[in-house]
Amino acid sequence: MSKTWRPATQLVHGGTLRSQYGETSEAIYLTQGFVYDTSEAAEARFKGETDGFIYARYGSPTNDMFEKRMCLLEGAEDARATASGMAAVTAAILCQLKSGDHIVAARALFGSCRWVVETLAPKYGIDCTLIDGRDLANWEKAITAKTKVFFLESPTNPTLEVIDISGVAKLANQIGAKVVVDNVFATPLFQKPLELGAHIVVYSATKHIDGQGRCLGGVVLADKEWIDENLHDYFRHTGPAMSPFNAWTLLKGIETLPLRVRQQTQNAAKIADFLAEQGKVAKVIYPGRKDHPQADIIAKQMTGGSTLVAFELKGGKEAAFALQNALDIVKISNNLGDSKSLITHPATTTHKNLTEEARAELGISPGTVRLSAGIEDTDDLIEDFAKALAKVSA
Ligand SMILES: *Cc1c(COP(=O)(O)O)cnc(C)c1O
Repeated sequence: MSKTWRPATQLVHGGTLRSQYGETSEAIYLTQGFVYDTSEAAEARFKGETDGFIYARYGSPTNDMFEKRMCLLEGAEDARATASGMAAVTAAILCQLKSGDHIVAARALFGSCRWVVETLAPKYGIDCTLIDGRDLANWEKAITAKTKVFFLESPTNPTLEVIDISGVAKLANQIGAKVVVDNVFATPLFQKPLELGAHIVVYSATKHIDGQGRCLGGVVLADKEWIDENLHDYFRHTGPAMSPFNAWTLLKGIETLPLRVRQQTQNAAKIADFLAEQGKVAKVIYPGRKDHPQADIIAKQMTGGSTLVAFELKGGKEAAFALQNALDIVKISNNLGDSKSLITHPATTTHKNLTEEARAELGISPGTVRLSAGIEDTDDLIEDFAKALAKVSA
């Protein structure tokens, strides 16, 4: 095991705990508990004097491999694997806050993330101010004497806006607040929030990390001190632990992450360029294109484009529905990051709970469509779009 290995190598070998049987593939340790040779050994384990596992809600070998591999990829000191992305987000935010504290969050958030800060946190006396996170001045203006956490997603769902992470981190450091970044859309390959100054990174491993539509998972990554002081006890006692079976599935998924994300990004970029040339398309937003409104920030903080493309059809909802219904290879689904290309109409699905005005603030119009590019052959996907667009009335 070497810390100097490059990501593609770490993702295949990093963190492996091989048993006495010398298995090639990582083992699944489907166990709730662990046994001790003696009473003294149990006592020492509970006192923390010896290393080892105690109970699967706290940690277990397959989960440990997944956490170690994610740490190597992210450049983080420590991590906790959770049952879903939302368990990771909720834990990362609530574990460090108490009644009276204040969150500043960029309003362009994944729907459930927005619910956690906008609806759940205030029930416990934790206030939240939602802002347009694209402008650093808005973050500064929203700060109060009680601000403890800045929360953001970049690029955002579904309109792929970006936020200047190092700019937000500088503001947070001035007041001793922590920056939590939901890095799902960027993937751990294209953006390193900790290097940019963020303090905590969260993922829904359900997306690119599994990448093959099988199981839910999440992970929180940060420095060891923050995890020890904030997340460690919260995680043990509230029980958001990942199933070892899912940890194993995700470990296998992560081995091929660079191969899949590379092909998905290549497909997304080519489809974005194709769509931008089509008369029925009003606009295309793709973080890899020069015409992205924040191309300068993307160049500064991301090393790749995106596996997602957002675009708007001139014909509104009717055109969006007609396009989705006419696609053959590309499936209609609200999920993303999958090997299969998936398309969604945010206004009637993922963002239907927002008001019309809130959707407009996020740039979601009735004609907005979000594509998550899969790993299929690029030309087949372009042909699928060409054929489907022909069936959309202008
Ligand atoms: C999917 C997603 C989540 C939630 O993850 P689950 O695994 O579905 O709980 C959170 N944030 C973003 C950006 C997501 O795409």
